[in-house]
Amino acid sequence: MKPLSNAVLALAPSMTVAIDTKAKELQAAGQDVVALGAGEPDFDTPDHIKQAAWASIQAGKTKYTPPTGLAELKTAVCSKLQRENGLSFTPDQVVVTSGVKHAVSNVFQTLINPGDEVIIPAPYWVTYPELVKLYGGTPVFLPTSVETNYKITSKQLAQAITPRTKLFLLCNPSNPTGMVYGTEELEAFAKICVDNDLYVLSDEIYEHILYDGRKPLSIASISPEIKERTLIVNGVSKAYAMTGWRVGYFAGPKAVASAIGALQSQATHHPANVSQYAAIEALNGGLEFVMGMVREFTRRRDFVVGELRSIAGVQVPLPEGAFYALPDVSAFYGKSTPGGKVIANSLDLCAWLLSDHLLAVVPGAAFGDDRCIRLSYATSMDNLAKALQRLKRGLGELA
Ligand code: PMP
Ligand code: GLU
Repeated sequence: MKPLSNAVLALAPSMTVAIDTKAKELQAAGQDVVALGAGEPDFDTPDHIKQAAWASIQAGKTKYTPPTGLAELKTAVCSKLQRENGLSFTPDQVVVTSGVKHAVSNVFQTLINPGDEVIIPAPYWVTYPELVKLYGGTPVFLPTSVETNYKITSKQLAQAITPRTKLFLLCNPSNPTGMVYGTEELEAFAKICVDNDLYVLSDEIYEHILYDGRKPLSIASISPEIKERTLIVNGVSKAYAMTGWRVGYFAGPKAVASAIGALQSQATHHPANVSQYAAIEALNGGLEFVMGMVREFTRRRDFVVGELRSIAGVQVPLPEGAFYALPDVSAFYGKSTPGGKVIANSLDLCAWLLSDHLLAVVPGAAFGDDRCIRLSYATSMDNLAKALQRLKRGLGELA
């Protein structure tokens, strides 16, 4: 048989998805695994959104929609951007996608020519560098650590720019670090991107999952000049607990939206009609639901961070947004399990925590930083209490 595509053969499968799938398989087989792997809200999609979807099916809205999405949904996206972000967009600048992952993929595929560089702060969400490489680009990482609160400086960004740099990727609030850049930091990034003629891919999927009174802030709202070069991706997965509905969107310059529209018309056509009706209801329905989730996530964050900080050798900053804690556990590397296995890195540690302590967490190696592991606290307090007990027991056994 002839070989498969080199680009696809070189692609690493998503480790967050793989760990979540494995944990669910083990649970289905009757094992008492606590899963803090995948980042998806444990809340159910609100009823009024389900009702809108059901009503659309009953009304026979079961056929193709335009490839860039229903006009009513694109209008709802524009209203949302105006209302929540103070940003003015027209529907021809918006493309509805099959989840935010698809919007990210569309942007990279549409922007990248072979050899183009994309600057990505690390630790990063697993998917970004793999997609950049898939489309022939080169990811350029900006390292951070617990000591820098997992934040890059504008100096780091400026120094990484070369004539081949096309795009700066900003995930704010960040998966996996939970960190949030504020106005001054965004102003500095924006100036550098404008001065150097870079696009910014702004992944705003966690914009409403913010703690301690923080307010959403899109880098596009910093100045008209940066808005012109910002490619916003966002969606309903996290804020409305709609991960399985698969609706995201792109908003940006008309020329990019139009190119993405052409791509989608050939590649995927559009997300499911019924899901688009659900998304219209979600976006028009206010933020009460996500604010309720944030209150609960705050309680969980405080519990998880408090427990992690009580373990000698673990260092973790307090997450400011999203629902992940990213402790540095490298103090445990080089130690041995009671069975004599040496834990050399985050992959070893997570594999052992799953096999011997029935705890699923994601190795930092997946996010480009082997010193840490990622815990999602988008799960019940009961699960979190069990998880932290298991983590403490596990780490306590290493000698
Ligand atoms: N961006 C980030 C930073 C994410 O954490 C996720 C979660 N999977 C996505 C994009 C993708 O979201 P969706 O499920 O809407 O594709
Ligand atoms: N964004 C989530 C995570 O990071 C879901 C899984 C994925 O798509 O990567 O766990």
